[in-house]
Amino acid sequence: MVIKPKESDNRTEILKDVDLSAVNTLGVRAVADRFAKIGSVSKLERLYQKGELQEKDVFVLGGGSNVLFAERVSRLLLKIEIEGIEIEEETDNHVIIRAGAGENWHQLVSWCVKNNFGGIENLALIPGTTGAAPVQNIGAYGAELEEVFYKLEAFDMRTGELKKFEKEDCEFAYRDSVFKRRYKNRFIITHLYLKLTKAEHTVECSYRALREHMDAKNIGNPEMPDIYQAVIEIRKSKLPDPADIGNAGSFFKNPVISAGRFSMLEKKYPEIPAYRVDTGRIKIPAAWLIEKAGWKGKRVGNVGTYKNQALVIVNHGDAEAAEIYEYAMNIKKSVKDLFGIELVPEVNLVGEF
Ligand SMILES: Cc1cc2nc3c(=O)[nH]c(=O)nc-3n(C[C@H](O)[C@H](O)[C@H](O)COP(=O)(O)OP(=O)(O)OC[C@H]3O[C@@H](n4cnc5c(N)ncnc54)[C@H](O)[C@@H]3O)c2cc1C
Repeated sequence: MVIKPKESDNRTEILKDVDLSAVNTLGVRAVADRFAKIGSVSKLERLYQKGELQEKDVFVLGGGSNVLFAERVSRLLLKIEIEGIEIEEETDNHVIIRAGAGENWHQLVSWCVKNNFGGIENLALIPGTTGAAPVQNIGAYGAELEEVFYKLEAFDMRTGELKKFEKEDCEFAYRDSVFKRRYKNRFIITHLYLKLTKAEHTVECSYRALREHMDAKNIGNPEMPDIYQAVIEIRKSKLPDPADIGNAGSFFKNPVISAGRFSMLEKKYPEIPAYRVDTGRIKIPAAWLIEKAGWKGKRVGNVGTYKNQALVIVNHGDAEAAEIYEYAMNIKKSVKDLFGIELVPEVNLVGEF
């Protein structure tokens, strides 16, 4: 059943010198040498046949909520705008939906909740597109995309073929997948399939902020739409809206260190928060390290760290890409000097810095 029809795609092939200010949530001024909007798989096929899709020279862009562009981007920028939502399969208990990679993620989540399709309500209000969601296995409030992932279709820039990826092919991990490693810059995700519940929804409410929210609202047995609503309210109260202040969410990943290294740090900082990944590895919240290094709420020129969340770097006004990059690298150095821990950006750096 087709819920939302696909768009026709007869726009100009490749544009030159395109301003990227409106397509990155950090709101930096940047220009792409070459830029194309992709509204269909057939447009990708046309570009491939013309020899335009050279893996190393292409950057695939969704909503631009997880990127920092350099002032000039010389790679061909493909903005994925493939639309359409279809119900592929339906039983009394489950539904499989197929969504175009260009669909807005939050709108898709909202549509699912409205139709009583459960499993992605904890991922409400994450900015960006549906096609980018598997790339870093988006996660929030105790849930990750991989839990509802069914399969995806992606265009192979090396062979010009459309390939199906099952869950095990994607090698999902914390904010990670095969599309960030082995297949980085090779595949363009065109469609995502999700398997969602129609009955007996599993409500995930173990995350502390969610529990506290439910307690405060006197909701004893939250249902799927309660989780959706709570996540939206919590996120709005904690995270800056890119429409008000430029940002790309968490700038760094939470570092994972060895248990041995952790016990040494714990002696010096007994209050250090930690989450066990497995027997030998511990995850530390990067926000805590950054805050401890004195960066929370700090501002240098047009760039700063958000007052309520040290992991979010914000553009206070007209920050240039180089300024944001330098600010981030200074945070990285402080954390390294103080704790000996190497922070790795979660945000994708695009272009020369
Ligand atoms: C305020 C805020 C809050 C956020 N909160 C969260 C959060 O809670 N959890 C979380 O996981 N993330 C969060 N993020 C990060 C971001 O929203 C996600 O990473 C999102 O999935 C990025 O989507 P996008 O379409 O904007 O991708 P982009 O930023 O455009 O691209 C991100 C990466 O995906 C690749 N990509 C994009 N589309 C495709 C495609 N169709 N095929 C292949 N590769 C593609 C790009 O090449 C790039 O490497 C937040 C960001 C902001 C600004």
